[in-house]
Amino acid sequence: MARQRISEKQITELISCLREIAYNLWWSWHPSAQQLFHELSPFFWEESTHNAVEVLDWISGQELKGRLQNPAFFKRVEAVCKKYRTYLDKKNTWAAKHAAALKGPIAYFSAELGLHESLRIYSGGLGILAGDHTKSASDLGIPFIAVTLFYRQGYFRQTVSNDGWQQEQYPAYDPAKLPIRPVMDKKGKRVFSTVEIDNATVAFCAWSVEVGRARVLLLDTDLPENEQRYRDLTAHVYGGDQANRIGQEVLLGIGGVRMLRAIGVKPHLFHMNEGHSAFLTLELLREQLHAKKGMEAAVRHVRRRCFFTTHTPVPAGHDRFDRSLMAWALTGFAESLGLTIDALMDFGRIQPGNADETFTMTVLALKMSRGANGVSALHGSVSRNMWKELFPGQPEDQIPIGSITNGIHTPGWAAHTASQFWTVRLGEQWIDKLHDPSLWKRVLSGATVTDEDLWGLRTILRRELVEAARRRLRESHVIAGGAPIGPRSFDNVLSPHALTIGFARRFATYKRAPLFFRDLEWALRILLDQDRPVQMVFAGKAHPRDDAGKQFIQQIVNISRRQDLFGKVVFLENYDINIARHIIAGADIWLNTPRRPMEASGTSGMKTIIHGGLQVSTMDGWWREGYDGMNGWKIGEDKNYESETAQDEADAGSLRHVIENEVIPLFFDRGADGIPHKWLKRVRHSIATLAPQYNTHRMVIEYAQKYYLTGS
Ligand SMILES: *Cc1c(COP(=O)(O)O)cnc(C)c1O
Repeated sequence: MARQRISEKQITELISCLREIAYNLWWSWHPSAQQLFHELSPFFWEESTHNAVEVLDWISGQELKGRLQNPAFFKRVEAVCKKYRTYLDKKNTWAAKHAAALKGPIAYFSAELGLHESLRIYSGGLGILAGDHTKSASDLGIPFIAVTLFYRQGYFRQTVSNDGWQQEQYPAYDPAKLPIRPVMDKKGKRVFSTVEIDNATVAFCAWSVEVGRARVLLLDTDLPENEQRYRDLTAHVYGGDQANRIGQEVLLGIGGVRMLRAIGVKPHLFHMNEGHSAFLTLELLREQLHAKKGMEAAVRHVRRRCFFTTHTPVPAGHDRFDRSLMAWALTGFAESLGLTIDALMDFGRIQPGNADETFTMTVLALKMSRGANGVSALHGSVSRNMWKELFPGQPEDQIPIGSITNGIHTPGWAAHTASQFWTVRLGEQWIDKLHDPSLWKRVLSGATVTDEDLWGLRTILRRELVEAARRRLRESHVIAGGAPIGPRSFDNVLSPHALTIGFARRFATYKRAPLFFRDLEWALRILLDQDRPVQMVFAGKAHPRDDAGKQFIQQIVNISRRQDLFGKVVFLENYDINIARHIIAGADIWLNTPRRPMEASGTSGMKTIIHGGLQVSTMDGWWREGYDGMNGWKIGEDKNYESETAQDEADAGSLRHVIENEVIPLFFDRGADGIPHKWLKRVRHSIATLAPQYNTHRMVIEYAQKYYLTGS
């Protein structure tokens, strides 16, 4: 058959479709779409932190046209465009069947949102959860609009100095190079609004990010009409002092509602993801009072429309503002409600009128919501206990704070290798059915996946991590000045065959990154064993003001720089979604050592499940529910300890016991074929029991059924 020339019109259409896709993060959880951008320029794809907008900018229009003349490439682009349009137009979604009663979108407010490595407006688990919630809402067809801030300098870039101390850099984003677009009104004019902070009127605009069918608004005060300190209000995630913090929260809560109103969005429900956004309830109250409702009726109205998720299991972790700060930031706003600042303070106090009590955002959120939840069963009960004074006379188990355990957006976290693997073994539909237990039960059978298959997957993923780590370490080394490293070459860093233990998360001290090294002699013995090689990969940032967290980084970095441990313990700099993706996929063991009950849920371990990783974790957060005796290991006990030292001692001892007597022997117990069959039995059991449960599809459905669809 003669080759038909592809018409100019077809090419123009596909180019415009490619541009549309670049601006919709839908591509970030659809490997066939990612593949296209990668293929356009593998070099620039890496350089730009996987930024599709930048890649398309980099490739000239002439080149793009030329490449689309290649029928094979043309066909693939066409297929991706079709897939994209089918996704956007899909009618028989979960929500179409089960959530038709929603009268408008869920407006989801979060101070951080982690969608992709090219948009670093998150600091840790809370933001990642918000991003994953958004993606699952899109997949399920739930109308959804998230509101957060546009942090121009994001969270910092991390390097580590020669003496192991974390250094922070703040490169600024250029909006033109991000997958964001200015928010416009129907006439195509930019939308602006204002909030009052102190005596200033602070103007702001918004940017919009498309996330499949969902949308995210980023509020931005970096406008020429604002004073410099207000232009910088949104510079950093959780940056600056308390005054900056309250300013950010005024913008997020009050400004967020105003922006939604300005663009005509009528939410079914306002969902506050953590207390940072709770001022939104006061803006809703102001609207009601201005519509001449009495105070009681106005409060009732607001409560019907708001819902709150708390994430913080320790009292010190909740945002609190003292009266002088509140008066500084909010006197004008209080007056617009016809209230004194003291009357306003009472909304955030457990005991109204108690002048000694500060204003707590969580208290405001709890008072002004129709319901609330913690993010695991244990965290739910810890929260009911923590806030019981707000519900005097109620038995603790009836306090209206429930729980929904967190999840992850599985397709977004699946390494390409794993995604292809499950597509071949379970069929294309594994992505739509990932919360269906019967799908994952099939993994228990050798007919679906043989041990050889599964070990093959583990071997590829581990090697891919080793390669990514070597590349990263080389880059960091060059950036740091690149002194010669002598005979120890990067080619000897990590082994694709060693038992690989991963630990990557924020370096908050309660997560206890150095617990493995509490008995250093023991750790050296384990790590230097020639016959049964064990290696560790660490990554994580400490908050810029958290010196104790930075000391933990220093401790790990110093260990990784010991001559005898060279290449066996590595610390990868600048932890982000991209680095996380490599480590969660490559690790055989995911080490999770929070001091119980301080990890409300934790999610990083969930990302390892479909990659065949196994958990070794304290009985905190999600693992306390997920662990069944066979699908991983527990360390320490499910109980409270008399002191932190006693707890650390007990947990470290238990960790050593599990690693030495259970994990290592099982991993190196190989059949004649070199495969650890008993290990893989555990892996199968882990996938079958955990994969259908610990994902955001299950989680968002629970939110919808328990909270979004009830009580209005
Ligand atoms: C998943 C993830 C987290 C959350 O990890 P936890 O172990 O739950 O604290 C934080 N940061 C990044 C980049 C992640 O991908």
